[in-house]
Amino acid sequence: MSVELLASYAVPMNATLGRRFDEEKAFGRTEFQRDRDRIIHSTAFRRLEYKTQVFVNHEGDHFRTRLTHSLEVAQIARSIATNLRLNVDLVEAIALAHDLGHTPFGHSGQDALNESMREYGGFEHNLQSLRVVDHLEYRYAQFDGLNLCFETREGILKHCSLNNAKDLGEIGVRFIENRRASLEAQLANMADSLAYNNHDIDDGLRSGLLDLQHMSGLPVFGEHLNAVAHEYPSIDVERKASEAIRRTVNSFVIDLTHESECRIQEANPSTLDDIRSLPALICFSEGMEFKHRELQRYLHQHLYRHYKVQRMADKAKRVVQGLFKAFNDDVGLLPPRYQIQAKTDTPRAIADYIAGMTDRYAMKEYRQLFHVDSF
Ligand code: MG
Repeated sequence: MSVELLASYAVPMNATLGRRFDEEKAFGRTEFQRDRDRIIHSTAFRRLEYKTQVFVNHEGDHFRTRLTHSLEVAQIARSIATNLRLNVDLVEAIALAHDLGHTPFGHSGQDALNESMREYGGFEHNLQSLRVVDHLEYRYAQFDGLNLCFETREGILKHCSLNNAKDLGEIGVRFIENRRASLEAQLANMADSLAYNNHDIDDGLRSGLLDLQHMSGLPVFGEHLNAVAHEYPSIDVERKASEAIRRTVNSFVIDLTHESECRIQEANPSTLDDIRSLPALICFSEGMEFKHRELQRYLHQHLYRHYKVQRMADKAKRVVQGLFKAFNDDVGLLPPRYQIQAKTDTPRAIADYIAGMTDRYAMKEYRQLFHVDSF
């Protein structure tokens, strides 16, 4: 996007509040394109391919993984950012990095690790994503982490407790002062929930855990489903579901774009600083927000709490907590790099190691540590 097309309240293409360590400007790229590129080249990004979104990676080749989820979030966020005249490169960088701190086995992995870490400050995937880009990536000569711009880092840190905010320095200040992040950060956050609500319907149907017949009464998705059935009476089930999902995503994207445009117009911000002191402006309309939550409720009830998903979640908990206990009982079992880190903070070093694992790596580690015939 050319500079002239950018809204006055967007994050400027090249004016960052800075990186943690000063660096010379990049050749031929904006600062946020550089951030995006660093994220794509990171090890943590490649590992997203083998981390669960809802279904464990080996359960099927067509289910979303954390990687494809992040790409879908980036696609949705980019197209809305273009229409709202926001900084597309920044939105893309935030979207691609937002789940870098996720543990293996999706939310059940995070809950299990959080439980193991309860006495040591807890574990939160959002905070961990920031830890990955600030400290844990291990590839640049001059610094740990990716040394991203302030604006990318603040976008990654969607939420944060006041206690944690106090320890985070400048990046935590907005939580203490109750100020907002940029519109780009707000948008990446909304695109995340828009994306997973819809692709989880898709994956739920594909897995056979959700029943299409049962879903015609749902808001938005059900309405589109009925319209597609009416327009194409002989369409097969798979294509009908995909068409209804496509239309549902589109309805939410259009609503989010229009509502945000209206709220921006009404608030009439002139600068990025105005955005920081205003209420959140990237929002669904009230009616659509309600429908969005209805879909979320349905997914919780029928997919995330489905007994087959629960079985996986339970197994994930045993793996994550089993690994944590084994390493905590004997740090000598950790790889050398984490043993060094463990000298200053053992539980955090273990959490960093476990959080970085892919699903299959965690299972392999578990087998090696607990099964007598695995080496
Ligand atoms: Mg996400």
